[in-house]
Amino acid sequence: MSQFLKCDAPNCDHHEDVPEITAEMVGKECPKCGASLLTETDWNMYSTVMKPAMDMMEALGISRPFVEGDPEHLKLRVHGHNGNLTMGFPHNPEKEE
Ligand SMILES: [Zn+2]
Repeated sequence: MSQFLKCDAPNCDHHEDVPEITAEMVGKECPKCGASLLTETDWNMYSTVMKPAMDMMEALGISRPFVEGDPEHLKLRVHGHNGNLTMGFPHNPEKEE
């Protein structure tokens, strides 16, 4: 499971990968524009909706815990902001049929 913080400011596409989103990251500033990368609202959403969802996906074997340098690691991206939960699977060329 790859997690990341994304800047939601208009005209700013900054995002950064993190091994684990924690409460300490609330209020972390975007290095590009200074906006908050993780608001209190985002954190509440993450801890009450996203984290349980990701734990469930791990339990089902859809996703695995983040491991540094794991080539088989499934890069499912999960992002929550303003009550919206977004998930995406980036294209995996090794899985083409
Ligand atoms: Zn920004």
